[in-house]
Amino acid sequence: MRYCRILFGATESDFTGMNQIFKMTVVTSAVLAFLAGCSKPADKQTPPDTASTAATSPAAKTIVVYSSRNEQLIQPLLNQFTQETGIKVNLITDKEGPLMARLKAEGQNSPADLLLTVDAGNLWQASQEGLLQEVGSSILTQNIPANLRDPANQWFGLSVRARTLVHNPDLVKASELSTYEDLADPKWKGKLCLRSSKKVYNQSLVAMLIDHHGEAKTEQIVKGWVANLATDVFADDTKLIEAIAAGQCGVGIANTYYYGRLEEKDPAIKAKIFWANQASTGVHINVSGAGLTRYAPNPAEAAQLIEWLSSDHAQNAYSNEDKEYPVLASVAVSPQLKAWGDFKQDPINVAKYGELQTAAVKLMDRAGYK
Ligand code: FE
Repeated sequence: MRYCRILFGATESDFTGMNQIFKMTVVTSAVLAFLAGCSKPADKQTPPDTASTAATSPAAKTIVVYSSRNEQLIQPLLNQFTQETGIKVNLITDKEGPLMARLKAEGQNSPADLLLTVDAGNLWQASQEGLLQEVGSSILTQNIPANLRDPANQWFGLSVRARTLVHNPDLVKASELSTYEDLADPKWKGKLCLRSSKKVYNQSLVAMLIDHHGEAKTEQIVKGWVANLATDVFADDTKLIEAIAAGQCGVGIANTYYYGRLEEKDPAIKAKIFWANQASTGVHINVSGAGLTRYAPNPAEAAQLIEWLSSDHAQNAYSNEDKEYPVLASVAVSPQLKAWGDFKQDPINVAKYGELQTAAVKLMDRAGYK
């Protein structure tokens, strides 16, 4: 099934000041979309599919968003969206596991229009479980690079998160560091700190290594990491970076926004970011993103929200408020992120993390990575 914004996604703003020519364009688009295999979502309610429907009652619409993202980041964005479009948003926040279980249990009766969550592994899982549907939107395919969205367009990356090396400059010099793979070298014995392998972030990182090196070599790398651990694995990235700053570990792997929060509190923190794999594959990146739910009661408005979140005014917030990187190349990053310098990103399609997730989990288990 394919939901096409151009055909069924008309809302008030799309049709403001619509003239006869534009009406004809819409009709032509509808025919083209039909020929392209677009269909209305198979759901319990008929989505708005004509300009007149959309133009007469847009303000009455309320969409429901299931979100595992930080409410303090998302709610102000949603408020702004409502202000600009008249579409109200009911935000329901929980962890991604319970939200996906809820979507599954609710099935066709789910009130949710949109799933907003972090990590391509989670978004891939949602699409595999049939919880999402494809959105055909030229705005989304223009704004979001192809490697940061589902090849089948069931989910879209809305911010980029970099997972790279963090080191204590008193213990480990930047000139000694190079790659994720190098952290398996015995020279790092007793100096490396890692977060638990149970976290999807590390599963995605190992999935990337499997894609690049195959399972046998990746297992050797992960075994090397385990052999080099300074202490037990950490429950979260913040505790890991604090341990690095305290000198318990020389180097570790963390998402940069966690570092950013700690650096903001203590600009003199004894920890620095090092951009990994700059001479080879690039820094491991992941996304936070959104998918239109399979049975969305309001697919047009929900798709409009995804498009809005991919546009520049919303993209700014990801960098300024949440210390993530924008997906929209034209948006500048905040001064704090700018100070960390530019870096080469690994161009792998993040959907691979989902595809290789099971293999990654099994491999980490075999390697003794707890
Ligand atoms: Fe996180």
